[in-house]
Amino acid sequence: MAEKNPLFEHVLHYMDTALKEQGHKNDSWQVQELKSFKEILALTIRAKLTDGKYHHFQAIRIKHRNPYSTGLRPYGGGLRYHPLVTIEQMKGLAMDMTLKNAVVGLPFGGAKGGIAIDPRAYSFSDLKTITEEFVSELGDSIGPLLDRLAPDMGTDARIMSVIANKYISMNQRRHIPHPDAVVSGKPVAHGSDGIHGRKIATALGGFYVLKSLQEQRVLPSHTLQAVVQGFGNVGSNFIKLAPSFNVKVIAVSDVNGGIYNPEGFSFKELDEESREKKTISKFKKGQKINNKTLLTLACDILVPAAIENVLNKENAESVNAPFIFELANGPTTPEADKIFKDKGIICVPDILANAGGVTVSHYEWLQNTRTRRFSMEEVTDRLEKRMQINTAEVVKTSVRYNTTLRMGAYHLAIERLIGAFEGKHEGKWPDENDFPFFNE
Ligand code: NAD
Repeated sequence: MAEKNPLFEHVLHYMDTALKEQGHKNDSWQVQELKSFKEILALTIRAKLTDGKYHHFQAIRIKHRNPYSTGLRPYGGGLRYHPLVTIEQMKGLAMDMTLKNAVVGLPFGGAKGGIAIDPRAYSFSDLKTITEEFVSELGDSIGPLLDRLAPDMGTDARIMSVIANKYISMNQRRHIPHPDAVVSGKPVAHGSDGIHGRKIATALGGFYVLKSLQEQRVLPSHTLQAVVQGFGNVGSNFIKLAPSFNVKVIAVSDVNGGIYNPEGFSFKELDEESREKKTISKFKKGQKINNKTLLTLACDILVPAAIENVLNKENAESVNAPFIFELANGPTTPEADKIFKDKGIICVPDILANAGGVTVSHYEWLQNTRTRRFSMEEVTDRLEKRMQINTAEVVKTSVRYNTTLRMGAYHLAIERLIGAFEGKHEGKWPDENDFPFFNE
């Protein structure tokens, strides 16, 4: 498996800081609960691919913690196909999921999984075989009330549909209610049971966070010039929706490099270019730049929407934006975070900024388990309300602790999680009127 990824240490660092400030002792059962993992599965999958040969792949699924009753409220989290998938990285991302669920008031545990593979190097037919082997190896450790999967880097609606079909066929004689709820991000076409809006949910949720921060005057309300790293599911949908939220994207990149145009871009043209050439880095209506330069361009808002640790101590001083909006998971290292804080750069943290995806995954789970279809309008209305209310809670919490938005989000998540642990294990439920979750 590929080299160690420091994301886990970073999440622990922020968590430790918040726990200490809240006066929790490191050896308390609540802290031990938060810092340990329920289950770490490290698997080797064997798949016979279209070349007629057997291939082996390292695959991981990790359940962090579920402060609610597993079996009623499942774990949930994305599935990543990327060469740098490691246990350490997945531990950090699973923990992130528990915190993210709590920040937006979703009563689920956090999980994450992945396969160390470059999906671009395989045909869909081979990816389907590999995915089916993975689901088969996961066996009973996933399920609609146990652990649900969702799209992340390198996976999409087609892969989610493969997971649903394999899980359903494996369990067809076991009468598991609503087996399609084992995975979200499924296609929306008839019979596929996906939900309207899941594809754009992470980016749209981000815009609702942004709008709420503008209403609270944390961000300015004029047209924001944005620089976006990543043109995948999250980055491309951010660019697609940007004009509706008064945001102008002046630079964008993918893994091959970036392009800059102060006049902005047409999403339609970029999308066509990406479909045709499999990259936007050669797009003619812009000046070529590399990913390193892209992150230091002058703009109002820098939007990392690709991989983790891209903003670090090597480049943080050169960042030329007053706001950073983390649509990617873990794009900022703690060293960079400190530099941003000292320079007065406001960082909207991943566990708030990109929580729209997990929120609409929750609506898809509700849609599947309650067998009631949600319209697009219903999804977007609910998403906006949830993002708006919880963004305001994060701002309030950061003021209460006199700290950054990131630490405000960590404080809020930890307060909610410890409250839920104490309710579940010690019967210390808050008064109904103090219950912090926004329920729908
Ligand atoms: P994706 O695989 O669809 O797209 C990833 C993009 O990042 C691609 O354009 C790729 O070329 C680019 N990229 C990869 N490596 C890069 C590098 N070294 N430098 C610059 N660009 C690089 O992935 P996605 O689903 O859009 O996810 C992007 C980020 O958002 C990840 O951090 C993911 O965990 C996070 N996220 C995704 C979702 C979701 O719903 N898909 C939800 C929450 C958070």
